[in-house]
Amino acid sequence: MSDTFRAVVIEEVDGKPKAGFKELTKKDLPQNDVLVEVAYSTLNYKDGLALTGGRIARKLPMVAGIDLAGTVVMSGNSDFKPGDKVIVNGYGLSETQWGAYSRFASVKSDWLVRLPEAFTMQEAMAIGTAGYTAMLCVMALEDAGLSKDDGEVLVTGAAGGVGSVAIAILARKGYKVVAATGRPETHDYLASLGATGFVAREDLATKGAPMAKERWAAAIDSVGGQTLATVLSQVKYGGFVAACGLAGGTDLPASVFPFILRNVSLLGVDSVMAPMHKRKRAWWQLAQDLPKGALAKMTEVHPLSEVLELAPKILAGQIRGRVVIDVS
Ligand code: NDP
Repeated sequence: MSDTFRAVVIEEVDGKPKAGFKELTKKDLPQNDVLVEVAYSTLNYKDGLALTGGRIARKLPMVAGIDLAGTVVMSGNSDFKPGDKVIVNGYGLSETQWGAYSRFASVKSDWLVRLPEAFTMQEAMAIGTAGYTAMLCVMALEDAGLSKDDGEVLVTGAAGGVGSVAIAILARKGYKVVAATGRPETHDYLASLGATGFVAREDLATKGAPMAKERWAAAIDSVGGQTLATVLSQVKYGGFVAACGLAGGTDLPASVFPFILRNVSLLGVDSVMAPMHKRKRAWWQLAQDLPKGALAKMTEVHPLSEVLELAPKILAGQIRGRVVIDVS
């Protein structure tokens, strides 16, 4: 058997980051305390950016891929033994740490979450960073005080990864979920995940009054920009918005009125450096609150060889749900 394995490596070409396939050996990997044989990774929006020249990697060369599920091969930490199945989400993979699009990854034991018994490695990556972030958003809303009798919850970027998982979780927990999407052709799909109402993406994309008619008890927003500003203007008195994304922009052209006159709370959600206790809680809750049937409906599996072709599609909003990358 050959000692080399294939990885997606981002290197500097003509002053710009460029992703391509390279053959690596284990000796090329960084020296962390756990070596994992990667089975599956995923394609998230951030992976799309990293693979298409976006400045996600803060040093080069960099192995791409922000999520992995795999089996421990060697471990310098007695908490993890060869054969253990583990997950890593974020922690700087593909930014400051070599990532997941590689048959082997050398990672720090501090980053490892044990694969929950409820999930296979493929299912864990169908969830991936997008799904675990959706769970963090639901946790943020409920920790702030949201309950299912408060009214409708809006999910923006609904047909994307974060959006699809958020809808399935909220519906399972008994919330009335409204999906905001720019793709009317996904309505049947979103209804099958549990959405009971729809808003057109363009209805949130233009600047309106600083405070509009009160509609939503809460919202999960993965779009940002004017969409987030409009959502804030439509949240009911005392409601909450969990903001995790920038698929539609990084600015926030909003006013303070929803905060100071309607007691609305804007809750920031980061998955990359989330503390371990929160990650473990999120994965535990995913096992309770994410129906397997919904997860299967939203997932497609592709080999690593196709990841570079898929990257521009996720940035163009052409991917529905979640993409698992088979690294084996
Ligand atoms: P996806 O591409 O799967 O989903 C994004 C969705 O947003 C698209 O499917 C589309 O939904 C909508 N969308 C895309 N472009 C636009 C646009 N120009 N204007 C309005 N809506 C748009 O990405 P992910 O679900 O993986 O990630 C979503 C966002 O969340 C990204 O910005 C990502 O960086 C962020 N994120 C942040 C994390 C964190 O730690 N804070 C972790 C994970 C993700 P539709 O077709 O239904 O309109």
